[in-house]
Amino acid sequence: MNDSSRQTDSFLPFTRPNIDEETIAAVAEVLRSGWLASGPKVAQLEAQLSQYLGGRPVRSQTSATAGMEMALLACGIGAGDEVITPALSFVATANVIVRVGARPIFVDVGLDSRNVDLDQVEAAITPRTRAIMPVHFAGLPVDMERLYAIAGKHKLRVIEDAAHAIGSVWRGRRIGSFGDLVCFSFHPNKNITTIEGGAISGGTPEELKSIELHRWHGQVKSGVDGFDTLLAGGKYNLSDVAAAVGLGQLKRLEGFNARRRALVARYFELWGKDAPLRLPERGDEGHSWHVFTPLLPLKSISRPQFIEAMKARGIGVGVHYPAIHLFSAYRALGYREGQFPNAERIGRETVTLPLFPAMHLQDVERVVAAATAIVHGART
Ligand SMILES: *Cc1c(COP(=O)(O)O)cnc(C)c1O
Repeated sequence: MNDSSRQTDSFLPFTRPNIDEETIAAVAEVLRSGWLASGPKVAQLEAQLSQYLGGRPVRSQTSATAGMEMALLACGIGAGDEVITPALSFVATANVIVRVGARPIFVDVGLDSRNVDLDQVEAAITPRTRAIMPVHFAGLPVDMERLYAIAGKHKLRVIEDAAHAIGSVWRGRRIGSFGDLVCFSFHPNKNITTIEGGAISGGTPEELKSIELHRWHGQVKSGVDGFDTLLAGGKYNLSDVAAAVGLGQLKRLEGFNARRRALVARYFELWGKDAPLRLPERGDEGHSWHVFTPLLPLKSISRPQFIEAMKARGIGVGVHYPAIHLFSAYRALGYREGQFPNAERIGRETVTLPLFPAMHLQDVERVVAAATAIVHGART
């Protein structure tokens, strides 16, 4: 990949956005145009995302968090309702459930897939359950057939946290090209960015109307000079400046994801079967590899030690994620240690190794050599 921003000997972060000069020029053009907030670029981004997702309706907003919250509101979910969601995700997935007044019902995830255990989802359904919020962790699609069979049987809505999964494909179909309400994130760490931003794909006509109202003050225009406010909406509309970034990114999404797959293939190739870390589920060509998150052998080395040792070798390491139910806000809801062993183990052991499109295969070799030496070295 011909990225001029690459510096061979500098610090290798675990992720880095990739913005080309054409996109920077497009942003400058928007800044000069006199129209900065939601306008033609937002409309264009929504249209192109819709086209990418098989023609489904798409509504952009300021973040996936805002999108998921509006999706819940659009489904009429609130006080007294339960929403089933994995104990392992970014905390936003659960926070939005609490914010609309509902109760998050956590279930455990697969140790290697990091995706929600669908047997546990089915077992957690009660008369109060209104929706399931799965996460396509790292871009590995959840078993969509089984997920929607469960939802259909129990008449539940599915709000997919697809923050990691733009460009992911399940059995030949793109995530977001089917399903109920599919929420993408365009935060700078995600596979494509609008700086901050997100988009919802799908939704019934009523849900779409609700999302539009919640996104912009609950207002609708009436006549030439008037407007009405139909509900106490929020303000979550994307700006044209952000959308211009997104349009430049969307053009490169397939290339970015192909590059991510090639880099991950190198990780698997170098580490083979006897990796010193436990590698995540490999998936297939439909995996969009938002993050590469092996588990550390804590008997050999603690995570702070590993992170410090990697940093000393010029390599950044992230943590995606601690188990949600062990955060104070969720312990306060009654959750406690021991309930979701896989999520807890992943939360303790996970490390995010460098993975972003401008990386070279040699960077992967450097990370593998460093991580192997550090784990082995700590063992002796
Ligand atoms: C990043 C992320 C979010 C939140 O996305 P924002 O656009 O930052 O609101 C939600 N869920 C998961 C799994 C994420 O990784």
